[in-house]
Amino acid sequence: MQDTYNGVRPPDAGKAIEYSDGVYSVPDHPIVPFIEGDGSGRDIWKNARAVMDAAVLKAYGGARRVEWFEILAGEKAYRLHNDWLPQDSVQACIDFRVSLKGPLTTPVGGGIRSLNVTLRQTMDLYQCIRPVKHYPGVPSPMVKPDEVDVVIFRENTEDIYAGIEFKEGSADVAKLREFVNTELLGNTKKRLRDDAGLGIKPISVRGSKRLVRAAIQYAVDGGRKVVTIVHKGNIQKFTEGAFLEWGYEVAKGEFRDRVVTERESWIFAALEKNPAATPEELAKVVEPGVAFAPASFAEKIVAEVKGVLEAIGASHDEGKWKGMILVNDRICDAMFQDLLLKPSEYSVLATTNLNGDYLSDAAAAQVGGLGIAPGVNVGDGFAVFEATHGTAPRLADQDVVNPGSVLLCGVLLFEFLGWGEAAKLIEDAMTETIRQKFVTVDFAKGMDGATTASTSGFAARIVENMGKVV
Ligand code: NAD
Repeated sequence: MQDTYNGVRPPDAGKAIEYSDGVYSVPDHPIVPFIEGDGSGRDIWKNARAVMDAAVLKAYGGARRVEWFEILAGEKAYRLHNDWLPQDSVQACIDFRVSLKGPLTTPVGGGIRSLNVTLRQTMDLYQCIRPVKHYPGVPSPMVKPDEVDVVIFRENTEDIYAGIEFKEGSADVAKLREFVNTELLGNTKKRLRDDAGLGIKPISVRGSKRLVRAAIQYAVDGGRKVVTIVHKGNIQKFTEGAFLEWGYEVAKGEFRDRVVTERESWIFAALEKNPAATPEELAKVVEPGVAFAPASFAEKIVAEVKGVLEAIGASHDEGKWKGMILVNDRICDAMFQDLLLKPSEYSVLATTNLNGDYLSDAAAAQVGGLGIAPGVNVGDGFAVFEATHGTAPRLADQDVVNPGSVLLCGVLLFEFLGWGEAAKLIEDAMTETIRQKFVTVDFAKGMDGATTASTSGFAARIVENMGKVV
């Protein structure tokens, strides 16, 4: 711990959150560093903070209080310290373990260290968690947006985001192309083209397993019934396909008495209909095309059925599997479709990095867009909460933007701290305020009979509505 960060002392009244052996200890007055953010972040932060403080006060009457500690990044840091990302700011996020970050301008021209990437790497924030659900009344393109209630666990450290890329025409790309074409592809007809840029997509056992483990543990802790592993393994077998395979290894190896896979559930459901079904008959349920497949494939499926019955017949059969978490998988493109057509079948999604990037923004759009989408980046012992939208520079300093994402970050933060009462106060009061059709312009323009509220007006109404029954 440092005495000062960017020359400023952390609040004397607070204490740091601590972490040991997988458990956080949260003092009643935790110091939580925050980055206000650039552009609209300024409007959003001051109003969101007022709502969060009001909720904690109402819930705990002064016994608990967040000691916010401003740390600098982005334009403010550049103005005051001539540095877009002072090392002290990164260090404060590390030392105090849990922090909240507003959107930051990405300076045009490049060459600037990205705070997100720096924090992700230094604290190994391997889970990007984005809950996506609908609040009644929020304009949505869906016919039944209330059926969307998913939490996306996106792997945050590897995949194409590893940043291992080689520019077309460079000496490096020529070296790599030569190596791949001659050493690895020599005996095949495949060749990398002379005018291609190349990127490397690493997906590791460790990276995949810890992400899927976190997703399943979240379902166990939160009573969620389905965990879906999302992948593109039909095309990218040794990366996306391996993510899927390792995901199932975690499910079956570490959560065996809590989960049933979709294939296993088909076997038990078929047995329920016909308790006398033979393994051969059950194999046809698992793989309907097995009758037309080569004998070796049929034998493999029959062996799979026998293996399932032997290994988990006692623990899962006779309906016991129905009370367990269903672990299934979907190819990513089908997942986009399913989330639109039958969202109620999904609950927790575990995805690789790029798929999760696309999927979480698309899912957010289904329930009202980025203005109301919170997220958190989590590692072992660290969490950085952040709104998923940018700085909306054209709306900055006009008191018009929607503070919803940061408010919902507050909900996630308080749930994370174990301050569920404060979280519920904010979420219920925001729901009530939207139900009253008192909303910021981004929502008002899509709602019949809405009153357009300023950022501060919306926040003030949420505070007024705190504790009212929804
Ligand atoms: P943006 O998210 O700022 O804006 C996209 C659209 O959404 C705009 O129409 C904007 O007006 C609207 N919008 C965003 N937040 C809103 C809110 N709270 N209420 C109402 N409307 C809202 O994305 P952009 O325009 O592509 O990027 C602007 C700047 O933000 C860029 O400098 C970019 O690099 C940065 N950015 C930062 C982050 C981050 O720090 N996490 C994320 C994305 C973009």
